[in-house]
Amino acid sequence: MSKKVLVLPGDGIGPEIVAQAVRVLDLVNTQFNLGITHESALVGGSAYDETGSPLPEATLTKAKAADAILLGAVGGPKWDGLDMAVRPEKGLLGLRSNLELFSNLRPAILYPQLADASSLKPEIVAGLDILIVRELTGGIYFGQPRGIRTLENGERQGFNTYVYSESEIRRIGRSAFEAARQRGKRVCSIDKSNVLEVTVLWKEVMEEVAKEYPDVELTHMLVDNAAMQLVRAPKQFDVMVTGNMFGDILSDAAAMLTGSIGMLPSASLNAEGRGMYEPCHGSAPDIAGQGIANPLATILSVAMMLRYSLDAKEAANAIEAAVSRVLDQGLRTADIASQDSQTVTTQAMGDAVLAALEAVLKA
Ligand code: NAD
Repeated sequence: MSKKVLVLPGDGIGPEIVAQAVRVLDLVNTQFNLGITHESALVGGSAYDETGSPLPEATLTKAKAADAILLGAVGGPKWDGLDMAVRPEKGLLGLRSNLELFSNLRPAILYPQLADASSLKPEIVAGLDILIVRELTGGIYFGQPRGIRTLENGERQGFNTYVYSESEIRRIGRSAFEAARQRGKRVCSIDKSNVLEVTVLWKEVMEEVAKEYPDVELTHMLVDNAAMQLVRAPKQFDVMVTGNMFGDILSDAAAMLTGSIGMLPSASLNAEGRGMYEPCHGSAPDIAGQGIANPLATILSVAMMLRYSLDAKEAANAIEAAVSRVLDQGLRTADIASQDSQTVTTQAMGDAVLAALEAVLKA
């Protein structure tokens, strides 16, 4: 059965990095006989310029019909003055809510070859490979009631509601356990159950979900300790699962452990495992059009897409091995360059990954 991928290059460096990622997708598609077809559509600022909407109806229809979406990035100064309702970011938010992409998977991987890029000591981070699973559509960011009110004594008071229902916790739990099955088979659930009732329930439901996955180990950690452990000994973790707000903060901290945002992919999945895959970075307008952007985060997003939505784990492994080979060869785009590396363009990095992929597949 053919699998459909929707490609959304977006704005800024988006089209440049996505072009390289699509070459990689095409090669594994042929080599592994995956039966993937893909088509492109507009999103973000470029969609607004063409159609007056950052998420045109035609794009949304194609997105709903796709098994997976590969996105570059959206936004840029050209569109910063627009009304909030038609800002490029609305295109992304619209896709997330329409497709119910509640599970955000953000790996923090530090290739040993890039250990110097981290602000932590190389021995603490070299070989780091953790996955943060963040609930994306609930929790305190969406809870009602919310607002700023004026009390009787005239003082203003801000308030939000931290709420999670059992079903919301269960589905993000399953998402984390499924991901752990594809990796090191360990889930650490992060909560604040010593203070917040919501996370007492979170912890209980995680225990229930764990019973469905006897092959995966579940542990719990308080969020303050988790933040500390992430910078003290991050390699102790395999999969970390947590709510929207804690995940927002912990995943950025974990990303910075690697020191190179141009290397980090991400996925946002729905209950059926369909998802949107994109680099963690933005559209980098400062370097757009120069052909120097790092395409590796987007290429690694293709690997995640193959693993989590397209049931093609071997192809995913091959891409990740090819990226590692290219780093071994000393090739670097400007953002990850060091003194003894060879600085290459976006296109040359794409060429090198394709060549390495051919070599991996022959080996
Ligand atoms: P950014 O991630 O685009 O750029 C931050 C810095 O990192 C810049 O110096 C940029 O040149 C560099 N950088 C980022 N990706 C790179 C790559 N692949 N190769 C080499 N260098 C890279 O963040 P920003 O500057 O805060 O935002 C720029 C625009 O992107 C804004 O309009 C913002 O709203 C948008 N944005 C979009 C997304 C998304 O589409 N998911 C995410 C974040 C920001």
